Amino acid sequence: LKRTAILNISYINTNFNHFLNIIQERTNDRSNTFIVTVNPEIAYYAHEHPEYQKIISGADFITPDGIGIIKASEMLNTPIQERITGFDIFKAMLDWGNQNHKSAYFVGAKPNVIEDLKAVLASDYPNLKISGMHDGYFDDEQSIADEIKQTQPDMVFAALGSPKQEAFIAKYRHLNNGLWIGLGGSFDVLSG
Ligand code: UDP
Repeated sequence: LKRTAILNISYINTNFNHFLNIIQERTNDRSNTFIVTVNPEIAYYAHEHPEYQKIISGADFITPDGIGIIKASEMLNTPIQERITGFDIFKAMLDWGNQNHKSAYFVGAKPNVIEDLKAVLASDYPNLKISGMHDGYFDDEQSIADEIKQTQPDMVFAALGSPKQEAFIAKYRHLNNGLWIGLGGSFDVLSG
């Protein structure tokens, strides 16, 4: 898999379908996989916050999530093929998970969004197994981590916004061999 670095962040440089094949195979194999989707705001934040930079450096894949990243790569004469967004990955993995009877854990967003999301999942992805769901405004993150450890989902979708979601994933990914991805506002979008 080709990668291209811009300002100390190494982005995958491929097309969406190729990337999907890779992560579906890894999820099928229960490989521990951490995906970060980086837009220009997050790239800037990483530049200013070394501890966050370190967290995302530990990810398996960083995708270019924003036309600004693609433009920058072109200006630097190291063009990145395609923008790959968290929301597109989310939808594709829900589809795949539904078709293949995979399981998923959802953490993030406001309680009412989680309620709406539950309904969307039940109607549009009936064969996806829900390992658990929790809103993103919790005091006791340990109980969420415990639930993920107990249920061992194929996929963990964390929509807490950056940098919170990446810090959460980096801290707990060792508890479950599967796919872990930070999704920003994707729960709001899918449920809305
Ligand atoms: N969020 C959360 N817990 C928090 C802060 C934010 O679950 O402590 C959720 C928020 O409700 C929203 C998501 O994180 O669903 C992403 O927020 P935002 O739109 O700011 O992030 P972006 O999509 O820009 O990364």
